[in-house]
Amino acid sequence: MRLVLVGPPGAGKGTQAEVLSSKLGVPHISTGDLFRSHISQQTELGREVQDILDAGALVPDAITNEMVRERLAEADTDNGFLLDGFPRNVAQANVLGEILAAQDHALDAVIEFRVDEDVVVERLLARGRTDDKEEVIRHRQQVYRNETAPLLDYYADKVLTIDAVGEIDEISERALKALRELGEK
Ligand code: ADP
Repeated sequence: MRLVLVGPPGAGKGTQAEVLSSKLGVPHISTGDLFRSHISQQTELGREVQDILDAGALVPDAITNEMVRERLAEADTDNGFLLDGFPRNVAQANVLGEILAAQDHALDAVIEFRVDEDVVVERLLARGRTDDKEEVIRHRQQVYRNETAPLLDYYADKVLTIDAVGEIDEISERALKALRELGEK
């Protein structure tokens, strides 16, 4: 199963990705986690992107696309993956389309986690990551609205919209149910 997860910062995408990854048996690939791991290991790429993450801006596509291209060339993705945080704009979506086409593969679905902005600001402030300051959160939300939300039109025929307010198990069950229904079509 090849899936993309979309949702505003604080929608709980990462948490849901972990649950769905273990239930579906496909790796969870989070570009945010990959960047943070480079930063904590102080790699060259990490040094390049640290200030960008702290500002809540998007890392340049060239860097991000290359990192994802390498990750999707690894063997554990042969039977599928769950992409969390990529693509984040239409240009990245085009690149993903090319990577998959070259492998004769296609996305099965795009899961949209929908949640109210006020709810997510509360959640993120409680989490306290270095880019979880109110100003930076607001900027990330704006980036989501401007850059990422257009993907919902881009992928219109693949989008499964899930209400992301509720208990963790409840939300993952909604997503799994939507995927089962997709399989029955
Ligand atoms: P959140 O969903 O809470 O914003 P992520 O962990 O997905 O958190 O992303 C954190 C940061 O990593 C983003 O604000 C951005 O700087 C960078 N990032 C992650 N994915 C991408 C991407 N696909 N393109 C550009 N930058 C990205």
